[in-house]
Amino acid sequence: MNEQTTEQQIDSFVFREIYACQTGLIEEVFKQQIFTVDDVYNLYREFDGQLPSVNTCAECQIAFSCLDSETGECESCFEANQMPQEIFEWWLVSPWLGKKLLLEGEPVIDNGYGTWWGRTTTGQAISLDDVIEKIFTDLMGYTK
Ligand SMILES: [Zn+2]
Repeated sequence: MNEQTTEQQIDSFVFREIYACQTGLIEEVFKQQIFTVDDVYNLYREFDGQLPSVNTCAECQIAFSCLDSETGECESCFEANQMPQEIFEWWLVSPWLGKKLLLEGEPVIDNGYGTWWGRTTTGQAISLDDVIEKIFTDLMGYTK
């Protein structure tokens, strides 16, 4: 029996859990208001507080014990300035993957019509997306 490489395993994982790109369909659904952006979970990224130790907020210049790792802002500045996540593509995914993506803070639509992932990257293979790699390695019990 041939051992699959990690690359082949992640490719078949993506093939199994992600069904189709339906960006045009979801855009049309929003346009016709069959459902709306209010149906999108995690449209706004949560404050992560991942910059530990005492740091100065990039916005108000006050020192805090933790800041957001992407913006360098304290929690109140982060919440005041936050913008919706930029979604480039909508993918029809398995309900299982939808739940995992939701837990990772990814934009997800999960309603009576189906489960879609709002992908915030574009132009590379899905198997290279950090979030997909993370879910896959968690599933396989690999450690990075
Ligand atoms: Zn601040």
